[in-house]
Amino acid sequence: MEYNIKTIGILTSGGDAPGMNAAIRAVTRTAIFNGINVKAIYQGYKGLINREIKEFHTEDVSGIIGRGGTILKSARCQEFCTPEGRATAFQTLQDEQIDALVVIGGDGTFTGARALAKEYNIPIIGVPGTIDNDLWGTDSTIGYDTALNTIMQCVDKIRDTASSHNRIFFIEVMGRDAGFLALNSAIAGGAEAAIIPERKTPEEQIEAFIGHGLRKSKNSSIVIVAENPVTGGAQGMADLLKKNHPEYDVRVTILGHLQRGGSPSAYDRILASRLGVAAINALLEEQRSIMVGIKNDEIVYVPFTKAIKDDKDVQPDSVAALQVLAI
Ligand code: ATP
Repeated sequence: MEYNIKTIGILTSGGDAPGMNAAIRAVTRTAIFNGINVKAIYQGYKGLINREIKEFHTEDVSGIIGRGGTILKSARCQEFCTPEGRATAFQTLQDEQIDALVVIGGDGTFTGARALAKEYNIPIIGVPGTIDNDLWGTDSTIGYDTALNTIMQCVDKIRDTASSHNRIFFIEVMGRDAGFLALNSAIAGGAEAAIIPERKTPEEQIEAFIGHGLRKSKNSSIVIVAENPVTGGAQGMADLLKKNHPEYDVRVTILGHLQRGGSPSAYDRILASRLGVAAINALLEEQRSIMVGIKNDEIVYVPFTKAIKDDKDVQPDSVAALQVLAI
């Protein structure tokens, strides 16, 4: 087959997620297997603008499949949101003779990729790497399963202390626009409720919890709250509860960045490996401006526009299951 992609660039962008390294390894090795050179771009789009680039060989990705974070580093880059910034990035691609890009990140990363691809007609393939699982068209994103397991382990530990003191705990998790982590960690951790952005207002959800959860004979409760700068997240919910029920002993735990860390789960390593291979296969099939995803355990190609714009709702049966199981 005659194919004109000789060199690809690879970068990770946005929030780091466990399993990004496994994806970098898979993309690099699959490219090399197919005779394509790999240039690693450090610090996401910032490194594309500032030319932080190194050629990668197969040994550069040795021993990283089990490491959290990203060896390529990640950064937020405001400059790339401007046409001028993207023009500089394109100049780098030309000077480095990079014919196509594989970008690993979330919706912001793909929004930037779509703009660059449109303006300069460059093949770009996206690999979903975000703990939030908020990309439409893929059943899971790289890092989500690991983060979910990390949260579940924290919930288990907090349950021990909550039940020893008859306390109500509000545990704040990441996902200000997507409740997958909150909802599913609540189910996995046996929590009494989850306050998520996809359903009624947080205030209404806390009222429902007070109505259903608090009148039970349980001596402790755990409520998982998706972060929310407007309502104050877990602290905001705890304050609301204390206002109406000063008799309860309420505590707040904000899990924060520990949710991003740790060695990726087997599921994330396998997902990242499959999607990394799929990203290069997609380029070889002359796909462009798509995200590779997984749907019903099969690889799918999802146009950037759909992956970014279409809303991926939490599973309604999971919302119902949590309510039933918490009685
Ligand atoms: P996460 O879901 O983990 O936050 P993300 O990819 O959504 O990951 P962002 O910080 O939103 O993370 O985006 C990553 C980078 O993508 C930004 O720093 C910026 O360089 C680029 N980007 C985001 N939005 C745009 C946009 N509208 N136009 C061009 N580039 C963008």
